[in-house]
Amino acid sequence: MTELSIAHRLAELRRRIASCNNSLISQDNISIIAASKQQMQARLEEAIAAGVRDFGENLVQEAAAKWPALRESHPDLTLHLIGALQTNKARQAVRLFDVIHTLDRPRLAEALAEAMAKENRPLPCLIQVNTGEELQKAGVLPQEADALIERCRAKYGLTIQGLMCVPPAGQHPAPHFALLRAIAQRHGLPLLSMGMSEDVEIAVRMGATYVRIGRALFGERSNSHSLGRIKD
Ligand SMILES: *Cc1c(COP(=O)(O)O)cnc(C)c1O
Repeated sequence: MTELSIAHRLAELRRRIASCNNSLISQDNISIIAASKQQMQARLEEAIAAGVRDFGENLVQEAAAKWPALRESHPDLTLHLIGALQTNKARQAVRLFDVIHTLDRPRLAEALAEAMAKENRPLPCLIQVNTGEELQKAGVLPQEADALIERCRAKYGLTIQGLMCVPPAGQHPAPHFALLRAIAQRHGLPLLSMGMSEDVEIAVRMGATYVRIGRALFGERSNSHSLGRIKD
């Protein structure tokens, strides 16, 4: 078996990030989120032992099965929701996660605000932008992002810290990262969640503060995962 250890892969990933000359942002401001969908307990523990402290999950149900026990023994972890969220799971998500990256519609803003109030647990949120305007993909359309950001802040009192995107497969990601950054700048949003295993260098050079890394840390996944929009 020639499978590389997660510690080895993490070191390589850090080397890739450090190799980016980045005038936009200091390297210290870049957090690696391990995208741990489909990873089993032993792999999560290996990643924690290697020094990973930020984890991203796509599904509330899966996160609920994997994380509460691990978080008891590792209280310094930060859990990020990076997958689409249904409004009827908002309350459970607020209990489980520390940062929401996928706020993308007014109804979800309302549901999250209500859940945070009930749980007395105000969480920082990022707004997901569908920069490629793909029909099936989650995220607010770029031309509707300004209004959603304003509304989340003014009407729902949410703490919006940044923006997140997943560029279309098969396209160069740079214009998408640039668009995300431009929208964030005009709203004074400091955090940019962009960049995955294949395009981490481009994202870091363009100002990413969170990179979401799955395969480069854990190896290939068996099956692909839906990035689809939720209509509710
Ligand atoms: C799986 C996933 C990632 C990580 O993708 P890799 O290509 O495995 O690095 C990042 N963001 C989201 C939203 C994901 O679902």
